[in-house]
Amino acid sequence: MTNLSRRNLLKLLLGSTLTSRLLASISQAEPSKAQPGLSAPPITGPFTLPPLPYAPNALEPYIDAETMTLHHDKHHAAYVNNLNKTLAPYPDLQKKSLEELLGNLDAVPAEIRTTVRNNAGGHANHSHLWKTLSNPGQKPEGKLAKEIDNTFGSYEKWKEEMTKCAMGIFGSGWAWFGRGKDGKLFIKPYPNQDSPLIEGSSLLYGIDVWEHAYYLKHQNRRADYVQTCLEVVRIFS
Ligand code: MN
Repeated sequence: MTNLSRRNLLKLLLGSTLTSRLLASISQAEPSKAQPGLSAPPITGPFTLPPLPYAPNALEPYIDAETMTLHHDKHHAAYVNNLNKTLAPYPDLQKKSLEELLGNLDAVPAEIRTTVRNNAGGHANHSHLWKTLSNPGQKPEGKLAKEIDNTFGSYEKWKEEMTKCAMGIFGSGWAWFGRGKDGKLFIKPYPNQDSPLIEGSSLLYGIDVWEHAYYLKHQNRRADYVQTCLEVVRIFS
């Protein structure tokens, strides 16, 4: 049975709201959770989940409070918890910043490299995302606005490029607007939780196209979701 027909069958059996929630919960495998023994203390650091810089409903009607809460409190939290759990036996790595870890993955032992790449990437990407959303959104100003015009033609063209990039990603990933080590602006797709920090670039604005970011509200309509992401852009740097 295909995923689509499974979804349709579930919808018939359960009704659409319940199905949406169920699908959102299973549409993406969460990184595995720690199963500490009864005597094991919880691992709480060195990385911590930054609080959302606004109320969960602050971005409505663009991004609903339920999606925002799940996205931050469950998905982002899972990346932080898994990163801490993975680094627990490596005190030297715990001292590194996300930029240092991701910017030199070769220095991370091979047996945990992919886990660090995914979870440090997820932590970095989401931490940046929350800071660059506002309602209403705000067009970039000053020097960055001029650079966007010079690089992409106009802010509208930049939006078109971001849309094309986000719509072209197969499966889970991010469309990132960033600045490369060469100082140039770029828009590029990244799979999974890969972060531009891996190549030493800096983050400006990312569209998270994992289904966990939009399935509750938009179901399969990624295009609607991408459009809403471009309504709430606020790039501070
Ligand atoms: Mn996400």
